[in-house]
Amino acid sequence: MAKASIASPNRQNLGSPVFDELGMERDPDNLYLQTIDAVLHAAEVIGLPHHIQLILAQPKNEIMVHFPVQMDDGRYQLFKGYRVQHNNARGPYKGGLRFHPDVSLDDVKSLACLMTMKCSLVRIPFGGGKGGVKCDPRALSKNELMRVVRRFVSAIAPQIGPDYDIPAPDVGSNAPMMAWFADTYANITRGQGDAMAVVTGKPIEVGGSVGREKATGQGVIDVLVELMPEMGLQPKNSTFSLIGYGNVGSWSGKLFADRGAKLITVMDHTGAIINKNGIDTKKLDEHVTKTGGVGGFAGAEKCTEKDFYSTKVDVFIPAALEQMINHEKAELMDCKIVAEAANAPTTPAGERILLAKGVEILPAILCSAGGVTVSYFEWVQNKTQTSWDIERVDDELNRHMVAAARRTQIARTKYNVNMRTAAYIGALEAVGKAYELRGIFP
Ligand code: NAD
Repeated sequence: MAKASIASPNRQNLGSPVFDELGMERDPDNLYLQTIDAVLHAAEVIGLPHHIQLILAQPKNEIMVHFPVQMDDGRYQLFKGYRVQHNNARGPYKGGLRFHPDVSLDDVKSLACLMTMKCSLVRIPFGGGKGGVKCDPRALSKNELMRVVRRFVSAIAPQIGPDYDIPAPDVGSNAPMMAWFADTYANITRGQGDAMAVVTGKPIEVGGSVGREKATGQGVIDVLVELMPEMGLQPKNSTFSLIGYGNVGSWSGKLFADRGAKLITVMDHTGAIINKNGIDTKKLDEHVTKTGGVGGFAGAEKCTEKDFYSTKVDVFIPAALEQMINHEKAELMDCKIVAEAANAPTTPAGERILLAKGVEILPAILCSAGGVTVSYFEWVQNKTQTSWDIERVDDELNRHMVAAARRTQIARTKYNVNMRTAAYIGALEAVGKAYELRGIFP
C-alpha cells in the first residue's frame, strides 16, 4: 500500500463555512468541533449537499437531566446525565452510555456523531446517539450505582425506546448495568412487547448476545487481519502496544495474541509496563480482574509513560479515552500502524505528525465498529425472539468488518485521501443517499 497521503495538507482546521453559518466558536481543542471538522472535510470531498452538511453539524436532540439519588449513608446526591441523539436518517439512534467524572455535553455530542458515522460505515440500520452520567462508578457502592442507573433511565425513558433510541455500554458501564437499565425501562413501560430490546450489551441470561463482550476487540482484530498484508505486515510475529486494558483493550490484546502477535507494552490508569519478550495477555487479564489495573503485573517491568510511547512496535492500539495521542505523544511514537480501538484517541495535531511519519491510521469509525455491530445482532435476536450461536455472530461480524474495511480502501483510492477521510466518505455516502431518498420533512 502507498504511503498515506494527507488530503488537503494546507487546509485550515475548522475551515468549513458551516461553522460560521451555525455560529459555532472555532476552538481547535474542542473534541466536538474536531469531529465535525473531519466529517465536513469528507463531505466537501464528495460534494455532499450543503443542507445535509448543516444537518450533520449539529445533533438532532441534546437531552440533559439532573436527578437525585440516595447514597448508602442516607445523604442525597444530585447527578447530571446526558443523552444526545445525533442523527436517525438511517434508523433508530444507537450508542453507548459513559459513566465517568469527565463526561461533558460536547464530548457526548462528538461521540454521538461518531456513532452515526460508525453505523453507516458498517451498514447496520441505525443512526447515532451517545449518553452518560457524570460520576465515578468506582467510587459508588453496587447499590448506589444501581440506583444511579435506575434514576437515569426513569429520567430519559420518554425519549428512548427499542424502536427509537437504543443505548449500550461504554467506558465505566457494563453488562450488569445494562440489565438494571432494561429492567427499569420494562417496569416503567409495563414490560410490554420488546421492552428489553431498549438497550444492548445485556447479560446473555436477560437477552444479551453471545460474542457481545468481546465484539469491539474482535472487530479491531478483524480489520487488522484484513488490512495488515496490504501494509506489508502479517499479524503473526508482529509486535504491538496497547493503551487501556478494559473491555476493548483486553479483548484486542488477547485476540491479537491468539493470531501470533506479541504484546510488548501496555499502559492504563494504574501505570505502564513493558516486556520485550512479550506479555502473556491472558495472565495480564487475570491480574487486571483481580487488582483493577495493569500496574504491578509480575510478568513485565514497570516503565515510564515516555518509554511506553517511544517503544518501537508494528501496531499501536489506543483503547482508552479520547485525545490521548496529541502532538507530543505522536512525536515519541515509533510504529507502522495505529489501530484506533477507542473513540477519537488521536487529536488532529497528533494525526498530522503520524501521517507525516508515514504511519497508517486505521480510524475509530472503522476499527471500533465491532461492538455496535454485535449490538445490532443482539437487537435483531430480541426483536425476532431468536438466539444465534457464536459461529454465526463471529461470521456475521467478520463479514461486516471486512466489507467496511474494503469500502474504506475503495474510497481512499478513488479520492486519494487518508484512511480517516476515506472512512467518513464510506459512511457519508450512505447517510447522503438516505436523505436523498427520504427528503426533508415536510
Ligand atoms: P473500559 O472502562 O472497560 O476501559 C477503559 C480503559 O481505559 C481502562 O483500562 C482504563 O484503565 C483506561 N484508562 C482510563 N484512563 C486512562 C488514562 N488516563 N491513561 C491510560 N489509560 C486509561 O472502557 P472500554 O469499553 O474498553 O472503552 C475504551 C474505549 O473504546 C472508549 O473510547 C470507548 O468509547 C471505546 N469503545 C468501546 C466500545 C465497547 O463496546 N465497550 C465500543 C466502541 C468503542
